[in-house]
Amino acid sequence: MPEPRPADAPKADAAPAEEQKTEGPKAPDASNQLNEEKSRHAKQAHPEPSAPEPSSRTPSTKTESEPEPPAEVPIPTQRPDTTEPEVGPPAMAPQPPPKPADAGDEKMLPDPRSADRPGEKMPAEEVACRERLKALGVEFEEHNAESNPEIGCSIPYPLVLKSLGKSIAIAPGTELNCPMAEAAARFAAEIIQPAAKAEFGADLKSIGQASAFVCRPRHGTGKLSEHAFGNALDIASFTLSDGRKVEVGPTPPEKDAKFLNAVRKAACGPFKTVLGPGADADHALHFHLDLEPRRHGGTFCQ
Ligand SMILES: [Zn+2]
Repeated sequence: MPEPRPADAPKADAAPAEEQKTEGPKAPDASNQLNEEKSRHAKQAHPEPSAPEPSSRTPSTKTESEPEPPAEVPIPTQRPDTTEPEVGPPAMAPQPPPKPADAGDEKMLPDPRSADRPGEKMPAEEVACRERLKALGVEFEEHNAESNPEIGCSIPYPLVLKSLGKSIAIAPGTELNCPMAEAAARFAAEIIQPAAKAEFGADLKSIGQASAFVCRPRHGTGKLSEHAFGNALDIASFTLSDGRKVEVGPTPPEKDAKFLNAVRKAACGPFKTVLGPGADADHALHFHLDLEPRRHGGTFCQ
Protein backbone atom coordinates (compact mmCIF):
# COMPACT_ATOMS: atom_id res chain seq x y z
CA MET A 1 0.00 0.00 0.00
CA PRO A 2 1.34 3.28 -1.08
CA GLU A 3 1.68 5.43 1.85
CA PRO A 4 -0.08 8.71 1.38
CA ARG A 5 3.01 10.64 2.02
CA PRO A 6 2.18 14.24 1.48
CA ALA A 7 5.29 15.62 0.02
CA ASP A 8 6.57 16.80 3.24
CA ALA A 9 9.56 18.06 1.44
CA PRO A 10 8.79 21.70 0.87
CA LYS A 11 10.52 22.47 4.03
CA ALA A 12 12.25 25.71 4.27
CA ASP A 13 15.69 24.39 4.72
CA ALA A 14 16.94 25.56 1.36
CA ALA A 15 15.48 28.97 1.59
CA PRO A 16 17.45 30.47 4.41
CA ALA A 17 20.70 29.79 2.72
CA GLU A 18 19.73 31.65 -0.38
CA GLU A 19 18.22 34.49 1.37
CA GLN A 20 21.30 35.15 3.25
CA LYS A 21 23.04 35.54 0.04
CA THR A 22 20.78 38.06 -1.47
CA GLU A 23 19.87 40.11 1.44
CA GLY A 24 22.42 39.54 4.04
CA PRO A 25 21.74 37.91 7.35
CA LYS A 26 18.44 39.30 8.13
CA ALA A 27 16.82 42.11 6.44
CA PRO A 28 13.16 42.16 6.99
CA ASP A 29 13.47 45.84 6.94
CA ALA A 30 13.64 46.86 3.36
CA SER A 31 14.43 50.41 4.18
CA ASN A 32 17.80 49.42 5.40
CA GLN A 33 19.01 48.14 2.24
CA LEU A 34 20.14 51.18 0.50
CA ASN A 35 22.98 51.66 2.84
CA GLU A 36 23.31 48.04 3.19
CA GLU A 37 24.91 47.73 -0.19
CA LYS A 38 28.28 48.12 1.28
CA SER A 39 27.74 46.72 4.65
CA ARG A 40 26.68 43.54 3.09
CA HIS A 41 29.84 43.43 1.19
CA ALA A 42 31.89 43.94 4.25
CA LYS A 43 29.81 41.53 6.13
CA GLN A 44 30.26 38.74 3.73
CA ALA A 45 33.94 39.03 3.92
CA HIS A 46 34.39 37.45 7.25
CA PRO A 47 31.25 36.20 8.80
CA GLU A 48 29.62 32.89 8.28
CA PRO A 49 31.90 30.85 10.44
CA SER A 50 29.12 28.38 10.24
CA ALA A 51 29.12 24.72 10.50
CA PRO A 52 32.26 23.16 9.34
CA GLU A 53 33.35 21.34 12.41
CA PRO A 54 30.21 19.92 13.86
CA SER A 55 29.68 17.45 11.09
CA SER A 56 33.14 16.05 11.33
CA ARG A 57 32.60 14.62 14.71
CA THR A 58 29.14 13.35 14.25
CA PRO A 59 29.94 9.83 13.18
CA SER A 60 31.84 8.55 16.16
CA THR A 61 30.45 10.16 19.25
CA LYS A 62 26.83 9.60 19.11
CA THR A 63 26.58 8.53 22.64
CA GLU A 64 26.61 11.94 24.07
CA SER A 65 23.64 13.04 22.16
CA GLU A 66 21.55 10.32 23.60
CA PRO A 67 19.34 11.42 26.40
CA GLU A 68 20.27 8.36 28.32
CA PRO A 69 18.83 8.07 31.72
CA PRO A 70 21.77 8.23 34.06
CA ALA A 71 21.06 5.39 36.41
CA GLU A 72 19.67 2.44 34.63
CA VAL A 73 21.71 0.06 32.76
CA PRO A 74 21.23 -1.78 29.54
CA ILE A 75 18.16 -0.66 27.80
CA PRO A 76 19.49 -1.31 24.41
CA THR A 77 17.44 -3.02 21.79
CA GLN A 78 16.95 0.24 20.19
CA ARG A 79 20.12 1.08 18.51
CA PRO A 80 22.98 -1.19 19.09
CA ASP A 81 25.22 -0.32 16.25
CA THR A 82 23.72 2.62 14.55
CA THR A 83 26.25 3.83 12.15
CA GLU A 84 23.71 5.96 10.55
CA PRO A 85 24.79 9.51 10.47
CA GLU A 86 21.24 10.58 10.78
CA VAL A 87 21.68 10.65 14.47
CA GLY A 88 23.83 13.60 14.02
CA PRO A 89 21.07 16.10 13.70
CA PRO A 90 21.85 17.84 16.90
CA ALA A 91 25.18 18.75 15.45
CA MET A 92 23.93 20.55 12.43
CA ALA A 93 20.57 21.46 13.67
CA PRO A 94 19.17 24.68 12.37
CA GLN A 95 20.95 26.83 14.80
CA PRO A 96 21.28 29.82 12.58
CA PRO A 97 19.10 32.20 14.39
CA PRO A 98 21.49 34.89 13.23
CA LYS A 99 22.60 37.12 15.95
CA PRO A 100 19.60 39.20 16.86
CA ALA A 101 20.99 42.60 16.31
CA ASP A 102 23.89 42.92 14.00
CA ALA A 103 23.27 46.58 13.92
CA GLY A 104 25.37 47.15 16.91
CA ASP A 105 28.77 46.14 15.74
CA GLU A 106 28.94 47.91 12.45
CA LYS A 107 26.74 50.79 13.05
CA MET A 108 29.40 53.29 13.63
CA LEU A 109 31.88 52.36 11.00
CA PRO A 110 33.68 55.60 10.50
CA ASP A 111 34.48 56.87 7.08
CA PRO A 112 37.45 59.18 6.77
CA ARG A 113 35.63 61.15 4.12
CA SER A 114 33.22 62.36 6.76
CA ALA A 115 35.95 64.72 7.89
CA ASP A 116 36.63 66.18 4.46
CA ARG A 117 36.20 69.91 4.34
CA PRO A 118 37.05 72.37 1.62
CA GLY A 119 40.43 73.99 1.83
CA GLU A 120 41.47 77.53 1.07
CA LYS A 121 42.25 76.58 -2.44
CA MET A 122 40.64 73.98 -4.61
CA PRO A 123 42.94 70.98 -5.00
CA ALA A 124 44.58 70.52 -8.35
CA GLU A 125 42.74 67.31 -9.06
CA GLU A 126 39.41 69.01 -8.53
CA VAL A 127 40.39 71.76 -10.90
CA ALA A 128 41.60 69.27 -13.48
CA CYS A 129 38.40 67.29 -13.16
CA ARG A 130 36.39 70.41 -13.92
CA GLU A 131 38.45 71.07 -16.99
CA ARG A 132 37.68 67.62 -18.23
CA LEU A 133 34.00 68.12 -17.57
CA LYS A 134 34.02 71.26 -19.66
CA ALA A 135 35.78 69.43 -22.44
CA LEU A 136 33.01 66.86 -22.34
CA GLY A 137 30.47 69.59 -22.80
CA VAL A 138 29.04 69.17 -19.34
CA GLU A 139 27.36 72.22 -17.90
CA PHE A 140 27.58 72.60 -14.18
CA GLU A 141 27.69 75.05 -11.35
CA GLU A 142 29.79 75.06 -8.27
CA HIS A 143 27.92 74.46 -5.08
CA ASN A 144 28.83 75.23 -1.51
CA ALA A 145 30.39 72.48 0.48
CA GLU A 146 28.00 70.50 2.60
CA SER A 147 28.58 68.32 5.60
CA ASN A 148 26.96 67.12 8.74
CA PRO A 149 29.27 65.75 11.41
CA GLU A 150 26.48 64.01 13.17
CA ILE A 151 25.40 62.06 10.17
CA GLY A 152 28.81 61.83 8.60
CA CYS A 153 27.99 63.05 5.14
CA SER A 154 30.38 65.42 3.47
CA ILE A 155 30.96 66.81 0.04
CA PRO A 156 33.68 69.42 0.03
CA TYR A 157 33.68 70.36 -3.64
CA PRO A 158 30.22 69.69 -4.98
CA LEU A 159 28.94 70.43 -8.43
CA VAL A 160 25.40 70.72 -9.60
CA LEU A 161 25.02 69.31 -13.05
CA LYS A 162 22.95 71.16 -15.58
CA SER A 163 23.66 68.67 -18.28
CA LEU A 164 25.64 65.51 -18.77
CA GLY A 165 27.06 66.59 -22.08
CA LYS A 166 26.43 68.65 -25.13
CA SER A 167 23.07 67.17 -25.87
CA ILE A 168 22.29 65.09 -22.84
CA ALA A 169 20.26 66.57 -20.08
CA ILE A 170 19.92 65.33 -16.55
CA ALA A 171 17.11 66.26 -14.28
CA PRO A 172 16.35 67.28 -11.73
CA GLY A 173 19.47 69.21 -10.67
CA THR A 174 22.10 66.75 -9.65
CA GLU A 175 24.67 67.40 -6.97
CA LEU A 176 27.72 65.18 -7.14
CA ASN A 177 31.41 65.22 -6.51
CA CYS A 178 33.45 65.84 -9.60
CA PRO A 179 34.79 62.33 -10.18
CA MET A 180 31.28 60.95 -10.07
CA ALA A 181 30.00 63.67 -12.36
CA GLU A 182 32.73 62.90 -14.82
CA ALA A 183 32.10 59.18 -14.68
CA ALA A 184 28.40 59.77 -15.27
CA ALA A 185 29.04 62.08 -18.20
CA ARG A 186 31.40 59.66 -19.86
CA PHE A 187 29.05 56.80 -19.26
CA ALA A 188 26.16 58.69 -20.80
CA ALA A 189 28.14 59.63 -23.89
CA GLU A 190 30.10 56.46 -24.39
CA ILE A 191 27.67 53.79 -23.31
CA ILE A 192 24.09 54.95 -22.93
CA GLN A 193 23.94 57.05 -26.05
CA PRO A 194 25.28 54.28 -28.33
CA ALA A 195 23.01 51.76 -26.65
CA ALA A 196 19.98 53.94 -27.30
CA LYS A 197 21.02 54.34 -30.88
CA ALA A 198 21.52 50.64 -31.33
CA GLU A 199 18.31 49.54 -29.70
CA PHE A 200 15.92 52.29 -30.64
CA GLY A 201 17.60 54.21 -33.40
CA ALA A 202 17.22 57.33 -31.31
CA ASP A 203 19.50 59.55 -29.30
CA LEU A 204 19.69 59.80 -25.58
CA LYS A 205 18.08 63.06 -24.70
CA SER A 206 17.86 63.06 -20.97
CA ILE A 207 18.51 61.05 -17.88
CA GLY A 208 16.07 61.05 -15.03
CA GLN A 209 17.96 60.80 -11.80
CA ALA A 210 16.39 59.62 -8.61
CA SER A 211 19.10 60.50 -6.16
CA ALA A 212 22.54 62.03 -6.07
CA PHE A 213 24.12 63.68 -3.04
CA VAL A 214 21.94 62.91 -0.06
CA CYS A 215 22.83 63.54 3.54
CA ARG A 216 20.76 61.10 5.41
CA PRO A 217 21.38 58.98 8.45
CA ARG A 218 22.22 55.36 8.31
CA HIS A 219 19.27 53.10 8.53
CA GLY A 220 20.73 50.98 11.21
CA THR A 221 23.23 49.24 9.05
CA GLY A 222 26.91 49.81 8.88
CA LYS A 223 28.31 52.25 6.47
CA LEU A 224 27.10 55.47 5.11
CA SER A 225 25.81 55.30 1.60
CA GLU A 226 28.03 56.64 -1.12
CA HIS A 227 25.26 59.14 -1.68
CA ALA A 228 26.42 60.78 1.52
CA PHE A 229 29.60 61.79 -0.29
CA GLY A 230 28.09 62.72 -3.63
CA ASN A 231 29.79 59.64 -4.95
CA ALA A 232 26.68 57.85 -6.21
CA LEU A 233 23.96 58.42 -8.73
CA ASP A 234 20.62 56.69 -9.04
CA ILE A 235 19.12 56.61 -12.52
CA ALA A 236 15.42 55.96 -12.88
CA SER A 237 14.76 56.66 -16.53
CA PHE A 238 16.14 57.50 -19.94
CA THR A 239 14.32 59.76 -22.34
CA LEU A 240 15.16 59.50 -26.01
CA SER A 241 14.99 61.94 -28.86
CA ASP A 242 11.90 60.30 -30.26
CA GLY A 243 10.05 60.91 -27.05
CA ARG A 244 10.33 57.40 -25.77
CA LYS A 245 10.92 57.08 -22.07
CA VAL A 246 12.59 53.96 -20.82
CA GLU A 247 12.10 53.40 -17.15
CA VAL A 248 14.09 51.18 -14.87
CA GLY A 249 11.83 48.60 -13.34
CA PRO A 250 11.42 44.95 -12.56
CA THR A 251 9.53 44.01 -15.69
CA PRO A 252 10.25 46.37 -18.54
CA PRO A 253 8.95 45.74 -22.05
CA GLU A 254 11.22 43.47 -23.99
CA LYS A 255 12.90 46.10 -26.07
CA ASP A 256 13.45 48.30 -23.09
CA ALA A 257 14.82 45.38 -21.17
CA LYS A 258 17.44 44.78 -23.78
CA PHE A 259 18.59 48.35 -23.63
CA LEU A 260 18.48 48.46 -19.85
CA ASN A 261 20.43 45.26 -19.51
CA ALA A 262 23.08 46.48 -21.88
CA VAL A 263 23.45 49.69 -19.95
CA ARG A 264 23.51 47.96 -16.62
CA LYS A 265 26.07 45.46 -17.70
CA ALA A 266 28.33 48.09 -19.17
CA ALA A 267 28.10 50.12 -16.00
CA CYS A 268 29.95 47.44 -14.10
CA GLY A 269 33.53 48.50 -14.40
CA PRO A 270 33.30 52.22 -14.91
CA PHE A 271 31.32 52.15 -11.69
CA LYS A 272 32.43 49.96 -8.85
CA THR A 273 29.02 49.20 -7.49
CA VAL A 274 26.01 48.70 -9.70
CA LEU A 275 22.64 47.69 -8.33
CA GLY A 276 19.21 47.61 -9.83
CA PRO A 277 15.98 45.66 -10.07
CA GLY A 278 16.46 42.23 -8.64
CA ALA A 279 19.25 43.27 -6.32
CA ASP A 280 16.89 44.13 -3.51
CA ALA A 281 13.68 45.95 -2.84
CA ASP A 282 15.26 49.34 -2.65
CA HIS A 283 16.65 49.13 -6.12
CA ALA A 284 13.62 47.93 -7.97
CA LEU A 285 13.09 51.20 -9.75
CA HIS A 286 16.51 52.60 -10.42
CA PHE A 287 20.08 51.78 -11.14
CA HIS A 288 22.45 52.71 -8.38
CA LEU A 289 25.93 53.54 -9.59
CA ASP A 290 28.83 54.56 -7.43
CA LEU A 291 32.58 54.85 -7.41
CA GLU A 292 33.49 53.50 -4.04
CA PRO A 293 36.68 51.53 -4.46
CA ARG A 294 36.21 47.87 -3.84
CA ARG A 295 38.55 45.49 -2.22
CA HIS A 296 41.21 44.34 -4.62
CA GLY A 297 40.01 46.80 -7.18
CA GLY A 298 36.96 44.72 -7.88
CA THR A 299 33.36 45.56 -8.54
CA PHE A 300 30.10 44.68 -6.93
CA CYS A 301 27.34 44.36 -9.48
CA GLN A 302 24.01 42.78 -8.86
ZN1 LIG B 1 21.73 54.79 -4.83
